[in-house]
Amino acid sequence: MNGFKKKAKNKSPFSSSTLSKWDRKYVWHPFTQMKEWEEETPLIIERGDGIYLYDIHGNKYLDGSSSIWVNLHGHRHRALDTAIQEQLGKIAHSTLLGAASPPSILLAKELVNISPKGLTRVFYSDDGATAVEVALKMAIQYWQQQSPPQKKKKAFVRLDAAYHGDTMGSMSVGGTARFHERFRPLLFSTIALDAPYCYRCPLALRFPSCRTACLDPLEDVLSRRHEQIAGVVIEPMVQAVAGMITQPPGYLSRVRTLCSQYNVLLIADEVATGFGRTGTMFACNHERVTPDLLCVAKGLTGGYLPLAATLTTERIYEAFLGEPEKTFFHGHSYTGNALGCAAALANLEIFKKEKTLARVRKQSMLLQALLKPLAELPIVGDVRHCGMMAGIELVKDKETREPFPLSERMGHKIATECRRHGLLIRPIGDIVVLVPPLAATERQLRKMSSILTKACRVACRTIPL
Ligand SMILES: *Cc1c(COP(=O)(O)O)cnc(C)c1O
Repeated sequence: MNGFKKKAKNKSPFSSSTLSKWDRKYVWHPFTQMKEWEEETPLIIERGDGIYLYDIHGNKYLDGSSSIWVNLHGHRHRALDTAIQEQLGKIAHSTLLGAASPPSILLAKELVNISPKGLTRVFYSDDGATAVEVALKMAIQYWQQQSPPQKKKKAFVRLDAAYHGDTMGSMSVGGTARFHERFRPLLFSTIALDAPYCYRCPLALRFPSCRTACLDPLEDVLSRRHEQIAGVVIEPMVQAVAGMITQPPGYLSRVRTLCSQYNVLLIADEVATGFGRTGTMFACNHERVTPDLLCVAKGLTGGYLPLAATLTTERIYEAFLGEPEKTFFHGHSYTGNALGCAAALANLEIFKKEKTLARVRKQSMLLQALLKPLAELPIVGDVRHCGMMAGIELVKDKETREPFPLSERMGHKIATECRRHGLLIRPIGDIVVLVPPLAATERQLRKMSSILTKACRVACRTIPL
């Protein structure tokens, strides 16, 4: 467990104030109101070590968001650093169009090995959004290439509040109103179903007596319209961006059963949940589910480089064999990038060497125990958790579950307080989100939870009662 290199000493030749000025002058940050950003001094991360990040002033922070859910084994892990350096000594990138490369071959084999049984083929891309685009296009073309062709099967079913990325196709199957609504006229239409948001159950029922009645509409729509439906797109076990909405037991396997029953493809977006994040290699493993298409990205390279993959079954792959027109005409310039694949191979190697999954299961129980007391606070409505993903939903009124007004920015206030004490987290509205790297030790998890708890307590004192 001592895979971390000693501190890098090479300092930036530019002063922190210069960098700070240039950032605000030249860089447009994602998901960021730049007017606010320009008014503040940006946090500039210069280096990382294990689960710590260091800014240009040398301040040290716990990486409580795993650098937005990508980092698994910590920063500057020796095995990952070495794998990338060794690959760099051979070649950084060569195309998969008309040529193959050792890292992309070996990684595909490894991915097939570790993924749910029945997934046999790997199609590479660069990001979560593109992995989803690939799955959607494969699904549509798959139905077109059946004999006889099933061209009517082109609709997708999706969940409310789903997030699958920011490109047009992935937004179409998304349901994050704030991000997607203004583009709705440009997006293809989908069949949206309620999310299994138990804390705010759309049916006002309770699990388990509800017997997951929120799935009845899925059965209903599949039985009536399966001839027009290409696939069901789902984030298995946890709808992450939606606010760490965890699905009740049996939900995912029921979705699988219904998809099979009505001959509709199941597309599992494991961009956030894949690679141990939920305590199993893939979230689908929790319910022994094999999707028809599996999308992975974020953790694939251990959080080092952008790389994504869409895995699928032999049945789907074979539908693309034959005449030239049957080709899957899709690809990106950096598809199967060698550095990314080398990092991903090293990532999977670490899982074995460091017995990552076993430790995540242990740490996940600890995390749950550590966060549980938060539920007692007057501003905490719900504490949700699956593996190393946790969401703490803040409410103005615990009884009625009334949220705070957006203008109150409670999530943001708590994150700011955490940062003052050395913990970086990124809230989603009023859901405080903690996603520690899988490598977090017991001590580090205790530290994170103690900073977070104190920040929530401070927030309790500042609210007008
Ligand atoms: C982050 C995320 C995506 C998008 O991935 P990018 O790499 O940011 O394009 C898609 N699906 C889920 C579930 C995600 O969490």
